[in-house]
Amino acid sequence: MSEKTKLVVLGAGIGGLSAGYFLTRNGKYEVTILEKSQDIGGVCGSFTHDGFVLDYGAHKLYSVIPGILDEIRGVMDGRLLKVLKKNRIFLRGHLLDYPLKLGNLAKALGLGTFLKLGVGYAVTFVMGLIDRKPAASYEEYILKRFGRGTYELVFEPLADKVWGDPSTLHPDMARTRLPASGGVDVILRLLGIKKESKETSAEYFYYPKKGFGDFPGTLREKIEEKGGKVFTNALPQRVIISDDKIVGIEVLMDGQPSVLSCDYVVSSIPLSALGELVFPGDDKFNSAVQKLEFRNVILVYIFVNRPVILEDQWIFFPEREYIFSRIFEQKQMNPDLGPAERTSICCDFTCTNDSWQWKAGDDEIAAKCVEGLKKSGFVKDSEVSGHLVVRFPNFYPRYDLKYQEKIKEVTLKFRELDNLLLTGRIGMYNYNNADHCFDMGKFITEKITEGKQISNIMEELEQRVANYRIVD
Ligand SMILES: Cc1cc2nc3c(=O)[nH]c(=O)nc-3n(C[C@H](O)[C@H](O)[C@H](O)COP(=O)(O)OP(=O)(O)OC[C@H]3O[C@@H](n4cnc5c(N)ncnc54)[C@H](O)[C@@H]3O)c2cc1C
Repeated sequence: MSEKTKLVVLGAGIGGLSAGYFLTRNGKYEVTILEKSQDIGGVCGSFTHDGFVLDYGAHKLYSVIPGILDEIRGVMDGRLLKVLKKNRIFLRGHLLDYPLKLGNLAKALGLGTFLKLGVGYAVTFVMGLIDRKPAASYEEYILKRFGRGTYELVFEPLADKVWGDPSTLHPDMARTRLPASGGVDVILRLLGIKKESKETSAEYFYYPKKGFGDFPGTLREKIEEKGGKVFTNALPQRVIISDDKIVGIEVLMDGQPSVLSCDYVVSSIPLSALGELVFPGDDKFNSAVQKLEFRNVILVYIFVNRPVILEDQWIFFPEREYIFSRIFEQKQMNPDLGPAERTSICCDFTCTNDSWQWKAGDDEIAAKCVEGLKKSGFVKDSEVSGHLVVRFPNFYPRYDLKYQEKIKEVTLKFRELDNLLLTGRIGMYNYNNADHCFDMGKFITEKITEGKQISNIMEELEQRVANYRIVD
């Protein structure tokens, strides 16, 4: 009987589990997944609290990668709800359709602002015919498509809140979220003459009935059915390298040391954590990896004594006077995920390590969120019954103007190892969604099975990842 190829996956977020799922399904691999925390799923997980099933912020299942959504629906057979998407943007006290429509803006913002925006579009359109140079920053990318009026009203404050100064952001940051259609296309969509396509806005999305965490949970089930192993509380300590290959991993499992041998390693853990395992004490690598910029995510759940608050699943808040950039009501995904008489609103925002938000205590930032929810008219003080704050450090890769050179230096260093693959959001430093992580797992499995060289697989994967789009 031929021995299976041994493969260790680091991290059991959706990135690691997707790789594990496709590898075990293939049948040629003996897969072991090591997850340092006690739960699987990472940021795609769900948890229970005070009678609620809660996700880590608004998570929808959707994809424009050919075949991927069908593949996910196959895996999640019978476990998904099809949800009509409703989300808007809260601006100057009004709820407006998102993506924005000019007619809608006119009603809400008054004639003066509307005319200013109209002139902005006209100028942008004419300039676009003359100036064909590619945008050098996020700011330029948006200005070239939407004009200064809309940029200053919506995009600049929202981008600044989520990413920090948009003039220091690479245009890829905008391209990932806003497809690179030309000026005419944007204007027709803004005027409502052209419908949004499935590449620019999802009309429907899918959602696991038991909470988003049922997606990683189902992948784990499928992996284990095929003989794969998923260990939680499993913290890798060191890798054993021989002839430029990782041949073993020393790991503490529930505090007990153990050694796993391996033919391949697929890593979805932060690049800095992987670096500590693979290149301990390498100052040059450490200084390169520390140059990659991130934003921390804070999720503030406000519990409210009312059956339901919003009509939308989530609402964007670009204005700076609100601490959060989005609010999300879990019960809008599935009303069964909370008690009948109460609801929860999750306020999400990002910040840096040295920001006051990151340093502030939970009560202080929860109070700021309640203040914003009251001001926007969504809750009353007397209805608020409690809060919960969850923090994820370094979860939003921030594409600064030099990010491509920076990530290249780090990933090329990992290519010194002939059997190490990277995947996932933080594992590959790319701003992505769960469907992209799923696609990466599929791609990696196909390419290893074809016998391709690891460096070639990684090169192709990097090109693939550069084309991923996040669809609102
Ligand atoms: C507010 C918000 C909204 C989002 N909305 C959507 C959405 O609508 N749709 C969508 O598809 N996606 C959405 N996303 C993105 C989605 O959450 C990510 O794409 C996905 O979670 C990335 O998965 P990952 O496995 O790469 O990373 P992670 O989820 O971070 O998983 C990494 C795993 O590795 C583990 N780990 C870390 N270090 C080690 C170590 N040293 N050893 C072992 N294990 C380790 C971690 O504990 C974790 O479990 C959203 C994200 C946020 C924050």
